[in-house]
Amino acid sequence: MSATLGTLLSELEPTWKIAIFERLGDVARESSDPWNNAGTGHAALCELNYTPERPDGTIDITNAVKVNEQFQVSRQFWSFLVSQGLLPEPSRFINPVPHMSFVWGADNVTYLKKRYEALKDHPLFAGLEYSEDASVIRSWAPMLIAGRRKDQPIAATRIPAGTDVDFGSLTHRLIDGLVARGATLKLNHRVTALRHSKKSELWRLKVRHEVGSTPVDYSARFVFVGAGGYALNLLQKSGIREIRGYGGFPISGEFLRTDDPAVVARHAAKVYGKAAVGSPPMSVPHLDTRMVGGQASLLFGPYAGFSPKFLKSGSWWDIFASIRPHNLITIIGAGLTNLSLVVYLVKELLATSSAKFRALQAFAPRAERKDWYQITAGQRVQIMKRDDKGKPIIQFGTEVVAGANGSIAGLLGASPGASTAVPIMLDVLAKCFPDRIDGWRPQLEEMIPSYGATLSSNTSTARSTIGRTAKVLQISA
Ligand SMILES: Cc1cc2nc3c(=O)[nH]c(=O)nc-3n(C[C@H](O)[C@H](O)[C@H](O)COP(=O)(O)OP(=O)(O)OC[C@H]3O[C@@H](n4cnc5c(N)ncnc54)[C@H](O)[C@@H]3O)c2cc1C
Repeated sequence: MSATLGTLLSELEPTWKIAIFERLGDVARESSDPWNNAGTGHAALCELNYTPERPDGTIDITNAVKVNEQFQVSRQFWSFLVSQGLLPEPSRFINPVPHMSFVWGADNVTYLKKRYEALKDHPLFAGLEYSEDASVIRSWAPMLIAGRRKDQPIAATRIPAGTDVDFGSLTHRLIDGLVARGATLKLNHRVTALRHSKKSELWRLKVRHEVGSTPVDYSARFVFVGAGGYALNLLQKSGIREIRGYGGFPISGEFLRTDDPAVVARHAAKVYGKAAVGSPPMSVPHLDTRMVGGQASLLFGPYAGFSPKFLKSGSWWDIFASIRPHNLITIIGAGLTNLSLVVYLVKELLATSSAKFRALQAFAPRAERKDWYQITAGQRVQIMKRDDKGKPIIQFGTEVVAGANGSIAGLLGASPGASTAVPIMLDVLAKCFPDRIDGWRPQLEEMIPSYGATLSSNTSTARSTIGRTAKVLQISA
């Protein structure tokens, strides 16, 4: 997120000085590391959590269209950077991998058929295919069919235009570009405190060098708190009124992974199933082809769990350290109104490794345990807050929290995540630089031709934009 914002700002205001502080020895070692997330270019093509069924049985595609629009914004910005030589050859961070939905059971088949009908003529979902025929599905993804009971009703959708994104590689390339253009990168530097001085109108940052614990002070006119799971804590330390009442609910995760070339060769898709009842929306199980460092692997999961840490490399005390008098009631209330989520996470935590493997075999019946090993994913800190009616909720999305004078902003929440980094950072620009955003418009339109408009409203613009970015990024249209 910080790398994206820095890159946008360096294009818009090349004379501004940018300093980046990272507490670890390298960037992108937390959620943006390729093995800490699933690397989906989330465009809601086949992820079923974005298309819930309404009580009347119709399918609500609002969220899917929104997420797809957001991903098209990211694609346009990445294409601009590639065409300017500011990002290297695209295959180092984005690769074409077809996306699929796969379901079993009569009710789920009916749902998927309705979802397909609701999306197939939409310009952002062009090319979506549907089948209930095992031989067709086998031709798309053989592992799903081999060993499956013949009498089981099954259905799948497929779209070749899906992507796998190595957000770790993308982050490294963006940061390299920023440093080459004059930004300062301070690794092993942890921001420990920040305060706004009314007199100088500057933020004073206290930073500690993790090697030797040397304290150093910095000043800045504008601060972006792109600290992932630690953003809540730093925004609380900043003392801004706007963060009052927010809490964080950490969800941990595990994946199963195989790098065995014989197994990997049998699957080339990202396949999304249906989430279990009561599970959080982002725990939709999926069987994924991953492309990291030029090597293909397979990933299955996520298996959700609970850990009080707000970062994978965080502290067991993180959740307790986030509690303040102003968020205590919200945290308790949100916990009590989401007991089904708590029960789900406890069940996931208690699940045996055999039970977990059976979840993979429900997708790929012939999967063998010896081929797969477990890896720990990144932490997702979900937002706890009060909704418009004052009810405490857990929100499964992201939210930019900006200080009233626009001199500080931070990002809370986790989903849809890195795929939508560009539109989220455009939101930061609009919130924090209201007096400049109109002046930046011509440059923003050059970088992101659809800036300020939606693609869905114009089929031919949607088609040409998707075609152009696919060509530049060397992915399927
Ligand atoms: C299991 C899982 C699966 C996911 N799958 C997907 C997916 O398929 N597609 C997708 O688009 N998104 C996905 N996401 C979400 C995506 O990974 C995140 O939205 C994105 O990586 C967040 O980027 P970030 O820069 O905000 O945070 P991070 O990548 O976590 O970076 C924050 C950085 O801040 C540093 N930091 C923290 N505190 C301090 C401090 N005090 N001082 C200095 N540095 C500090 C950290 O060390 C870290 O390097 C997934 C996430 C998880 C956990």
